[in-house]
Amino acid sequence: MDSILHNDVKFVAGVGEARARLLDRELSIRTVGDLLNHFPFRYIDRTRIYPIAEVSEAAQLTYVQIRARVLSIGYAGEGRKRRFTVYVQDATGRAELIWFQGIKWIEKRIEVGREYLIFGRPSFYRGLLQLAHPEIETMEQVLSRKAESGMQGIYPSTERLSSALGTKGMYRIIANAWSLLRAPLSDPLPELLRRQYGLIGLHEAYYNIHFPQSAEALRQAQYRLKFDELLGIQLHVQSRRADRMTRHDGFLFPKVGELFNTFYQTKLPFPLTGAQKRVIKEIRQDTVTGFQMNRLLQGDVGSGKTLVALISMLLAVDNGYQACIMAPTEILARQHYASFLRFLDGLPVRVAILTGSSKAKERRTALEGIASGEVQLLIGTHALIEDKVQFQNLGFVVIDEQHRFGVEQRARLWTKNQQPPHILVMTATPIPRTLAMTLYGDLDVSVIDELPPGRKPIQTSHYTDAARLRLWGFLRKQIALGRQVYIVYPLIAESETMDYKDLTDGYEAVSRDFPLPDYRVAICHGKMKPADKEESMRQFKEGEAQILVATSVIEVGVDVPNATVMVIESAERFGLSQLHQLRGRVGRGGEQSYCILMSGEKLSRESRARLDAMCETNDGFRLAELDLKLRGAGDVNGTLQSGMALDLKIANPTRDVQVLTLTREAAEQILKQDPTLEHPAHRGLAQLRERHTAQERIDFSQIS
Ligand code: ADP
Ligand code: MG
Repeated sequence: MDSILHNDVKFVAGVGEARARLLDRELSIRTVGDLLNHFPFRYIDRTRIYPIAEVSEAAQLTYVQIRARVLSIGYAGEGRKRRFTVYVQDATGRAELIWFQGIKWIEKRIEVGREYLIFGRPSFYRGLLQLAHPEIETMEQVLSRKAESGMQGIYPSTERLSSALGTKGMYRIIANAWSLLRAPLSDPLPELLRRQYGLIGLHEAYYNIHFPQSAEALRQAQYRLKFDELLGIQLHVQSRRADRMTRHDGFLFPKVGELFNTFYQTKLPFPLTGAQKRVIKEIRQDTVTGFQMNRLLQGDVGSGKTLVALISMLLAVDNGYQACIMAPTEILARQHYASFLRFLDGLPVRVAILTGSSKAKERRTALEGIASGEVQLLIGTHALIEDKVQFQNLGFVVIDEQHRFGVEQRARLWTKNQQPPHILVMTATPIPRTLAMTLYGDLDVSVIDELPPGRKPIQTSHYTDAARLRLWGFLRKQIALGRQVYIVYPLIAESETMDYKDLTDGYEAVSRDFPLPDYRVAICHGKMKPADKEESMRQFKEGEAQILVATSVIEVGVDVPNATVMVIESAERFGLSQLHQLRGRVGRGGEQSYCILMSGEKLSRESRARLDAMCETNDGFRLAELDLKLRGAGDVNGTLQSGMALDLKIANPTRDVQVLTLTREAAEQILKQDPTLEHPAHRGLAQLRERHTAQERIDFSQIS
């Protein structure tokens, strides 16, 4: 009976061919079902009427409803530029209503002297309230309207769609689509489950999400729809996990051997933190079970993830396997290579590096060495996933700063083996734990929640250009103390040339302002040749250059403990997690470090909130949660980058923690009884699960 849901949306009253094309193009809505799955993102109270004087710019209202009388009307412009203005007034003030389209239709409905209920999006022109294309009703119409709860859904839309449909257009066509249903929507959840979790029926839920009969009914509807969404994901990830656990084809690392022990006892320059030890232990436990390890290691910047990786890789080598670590940038790969060589100096282990810019000899050494098994540890960039790279027996893979890698790239690495290697994914972009559990239900999560001892919290402050002289003064002082400074400029793909100009201008300014012969300024950006980049980094690392002017290429991983100041130019153009990453480049030694955010005077509310948050806390997990909040539910996908994207319409795993917990438990219970969801009563559940299998862009099975 739900077949009507597959009907083309063009047959819904009020849609038709042209609008159907628009709905498809703008929101990928093609069927009646798609339309009913287009949920309001918020609700407004239609019983509330604002006095015009109260609708101020400062109130920042998205929609308002006013009740006002028409004073006069006016026309301006010609042809397509023509506009129709209606001047209205209530007891407190005046406003203008403006139409650019559908003028013929609206002018017939406007009568000077008459009172209307007007609803729309407020904007201001020279302090005067304006509503473009508002929805209007005469007071008679309002009175005859049947009593509703007063709540009206506001639907996500695009500029084009809004101008084609008007304020209430989406609401109308969804109401029309609803009226096409001839029977209740079939419910995927078994009666028993619904009762157990206090869930209303699906049909009722859909009705109330679009046309809430009361605040309580709306709450119930939201709960039900979120439950379905999150349950589908839970069933999906838990089934995957169960599947991995039946395979039992993980490599065994039973031995803690020579390398591991010697390194631990003689090479470690400092004691491991408790958190580092715990994670290493978790990895050791994983690698003796016979199951393939699939572990996500989250640790804030500077928490010492690299060392955990190195030690785990030695464990693999001790047991006769090769290990590799894949870094997101050339600079980072080179840095890992250098520090691995340093750490492993004098130990019987062969290390090689392979990157996109490896010269012939380096490349040959790496390729031949890993094919023959002579090279045991390989460090590299994306180059590691090329087909030419053939391991002899790859047993352990580390992926550093995982959020920089695309999914396919990751997946390709493990197809290099018959048997899947153990996988350790490391990230400093802290995904809130609850979210990680949802998204990575099939990954075990380790957290390094402790920084190496002796670190002083970084002091972060925010300045505008007016403070530039003071900034230079401060930098001079730090350099005089023997410290080093990063100055970072934004790099945004769409306007690379402009950013490049910012950077080079910045470089010149800095070179000019630091003219003393013993200061040296190095520069590093994406357009430089790898060799030149490397040379700049070397100068900075070895202390020959005191200042490094760079784009965000240095965002991840770079480790120069003597650098104590991070200046971020045009900081408002960076996202929160990026700012936090950049800040993590300092505060790596024992000295007090500083992060200085430079921005223009004028900032959007959001940019200001981001910069304020940076000044307030050093805690990456808190920033990550805040980031999600600032960007809102709709953007969860964007935050999670490729591969982790989930197509969630209504649930937000960070906010709906309770529902998430309930669905996790429900999924466990269901799968325990019926692991394959073959039971006839579970057909709907199987469909919920499949929906996510189909939507999921990442194929977890390839990772596991
Ligand atoms: P991240 O987790 O951001 O990748 P790194 O692995 O680059 O951090 O480590 C940051 C710095 O801390 C490095 O200089 C590293 O040598 C140092 N470090 C790592 N572990 C410890 C420890 N247990 N005690 C002191 N310093 C440590
Ligand atoms: Mg790192």
